[in-house]
Amino acid sequence: MRWEGQRESGNIEDRRGMGPARIGGVGGLGLGGIVLVLAVSYFTGINPLTLINMLSGGQSMTESSAPSEPAPTGSPNDKLGKFAAVVLADTETTWKTLLGQRYEDPRLVLFSGAVQSACGTTSSAVGPFYCPGDHKVYLDLSFFNAMSQRLGASGDFAQAYVIAHEVGHHVQNLMGIAEKVTRLQHQASERERNALSVRMELQADCFAGVWGHHAKRERNLIEPGDFEEGLRAAAAIGDDQLQKMSRGYTRPESWTHGSSEQRMTWLRKGMETGDPKACDTFSSHQL
Ligand SMILES: [Zn+2]
Repeated sequence: MRWEGQRESGNIEDRRGMGPARIGGVGGLGLGGIVLVLAVSYFTGINPLTLINMLSGGQSMTESSAPSEPAPTGSPNDKLGKFAAVVLADTETTWKTLLGQRYEDPRLVLFSGAVQSACGTTSSAVGPFYCPGDHKVYLDLSFFNAMSQRLGASGDFAQAYVIAHEVGHHVQNLMGIAEKVTRLQHQASERERNALSVRMELQADCFAGVWGHHAKRERNLIEPGDFEEGLRAAAAIGDDQLQKMSRGYTRPESWTHGSSEQRMTWLRKGMETGDPKACDTFSSHQL
């Protein structure tokens, strides 16, 4: 990608090295304990704050902790941080052009280890995510290393695709799609819930492609080979691929993000058309 020297977004909250401020203030619970709490909460779905309160004798966390310092906002100074700021800025330009006044810029929070958001406390083990409650994308940049070393998905456009996918979830939130889907999921079976999740995720992939299309056409950010890099990344993080890697077989009913083939298809659709309307994964029979 030709990203150097491009506009950097100011909507970056740099919390790297700060740690999850409130958890750090809990007396008696060392780092090991916190890691354990996060692991337990990740597998059980129990709110980590509840677990910490249980472990520290029911003492409320918020009372015992000092107020956290606000994270510095603005453009980061390191190369990877700058890269993320440029990609975010370009998604802002793209979506403002496509949606007009309806688009509000999301924030990108860079963190390391674990982070607190309106969605609770999250370990970076779960990967990058978007929290609809505070309109922020959360990204631990070390995910990019894991992507290239463990999944074989490397390159700057592969990384940009990850950011643009999360911004895609923000677009779904602004357009009211996220809310509708969450409502449907409440009354659905697990199988149906997963199927809805797949449609959401594939649409976010398609929206990421829409951004790529405009970054190429209007600002010449895309170099030969970049789109292929994105498609390789989409294939690498397909549910069938990840399940085969981790347990040797795959179970389509349990997919939440879609197969490699599906993820590539919808990312490609966005890149080719540049049109969000082409990303209607909800009325499409064939995914
Ligand atoms: Zn997603």
